[in-house]
Amino acid sequence: DQNGVPGRVRVAIRLRPRNAEEMSADADFADCVELQPELKRLKLRKNNWDADTYEFDEVLTEYASQKRVYEVVAKPVVESVLDGYNGTVMAYGQTGTGKTFTLGRLGDEDTADRGIMVRSMEDIFANVSPNTDLITVSYLQLYMEYIQDLLDPSNDNIPIVEDPKTGDVSLPGATLVEINGQQSFLELLRIGEAHRIAANTKLNTESSRSHAILMVHVKRSVTEGEDAPSIDNGSSSHFIKPSRPLVRKSKLVIVDLAGSERIHKSGSEGHMLEEAKSINLSLSALGKCINALAENSSHVPVRDSKLTRLLRDSFGGTARTSLVVTIGPSPRHRGETTSTILFGQRAM
Ligand code: ADP
Ligand code: MG
Repeated sequence: DQNGVPGRVRVAIRLRPRNAEEMSADADFADCVELQPELKRLKLRKNNWDADTYEFDEVLTEYASQKRVYEVVAKPVVESVLDGYNGTVMAYGQTGTGKTFTLGRLGDEDTADRGIMVRSMEDIFANVSPNTDLITVSYLQLYMEYIQDLLDPSNDNIPIVEDPKTGDVSLPGATLVEINGQQSFLELLRIGEAHRIAANTKLNTESSRSHAILMVHVKRSVTEGEDAPSIDNGSSSHFIKPSRPLVRKSKLVIVDLAGSERIHKSGSEGHMLEEAKSINLSLSALGKCINALAENSSHVPVRDSKLTRLLRDSFGGTARTSLVVTIGPSPRHRGETTSTILFGQRAM
């Protein structure tokens, strides 16, 4: 059961449909990829007669619905978070290939459009009890190695604190909002998005140059006799007095990563170059960590960037990670599409 293997990263690839521009200008050109979803294969064209073939855990075509994408990419992770394990869902790819569409869509006009963030929360609400369970959310942006609070713009340099004993990560000072229903969650996402736009205007940057991170903390009371994998009963003992009320804590982290495209060094300088370096640093650190997980290595090099330090307690062990890599169909971006595919392959 691939859904159920902790430690290993599950990788899906999703192709965005052609946009208006690609329909007109490239109308008579073949897409640079050909998908074989039933074989979970993707062919990347090298030229008219030759292609490289890659396999993924899941291959999502341009016709895949948001619902299907949720079910394939995020649902197993959400289920394991409800069971008390940490989980991560990340989207990686070139700007414009559908990361935010996949994760962040609110579906205001049509609920069928809702992305992974909204659907995950819906699933969580459907499974917790409002009387005994607590759902709190933080929404952050990681830009140039600064963690900024998207729920409180004045809070723009949040530290990462790691518990040396448990390895648990906390972000002291980050706003934590208690969420008690889908409406309050949608409201929080809207506020966060508005703050993100304002912050990026102030910093004179694009939202594609930072990582957006949603953290959902799930605290559930565990009833007697229930299987309880991670128990916070105030002691490190494995022996649990059945009469004591127990609390089970877990965390779902959803990361809309910065655009993976290479910024050409010749065309960028100063600020742009610093941004590019910082994104390179964090994405390559992330790549190294998920490679280490894929290879079952005992050493996951989390210390190399804030992104990976932040995700430390979501990597390996009992935690579950799902990565969706997004690509576009245009042969013009074959180079970027190739590196995105290879990033996904190394994670497996
Ligand atoms: P990214 O976050 O990777 O930069 P976006 O999610 O903003 O990319 O997507 C770029 C554009 O393509 C948006 O207009 C978005 O609505 C559209 N788009 C992306 N994926 C899909 C899809 N699967 N179906 C329809 N439109 C999509
Ligand atoms: Mg985006």
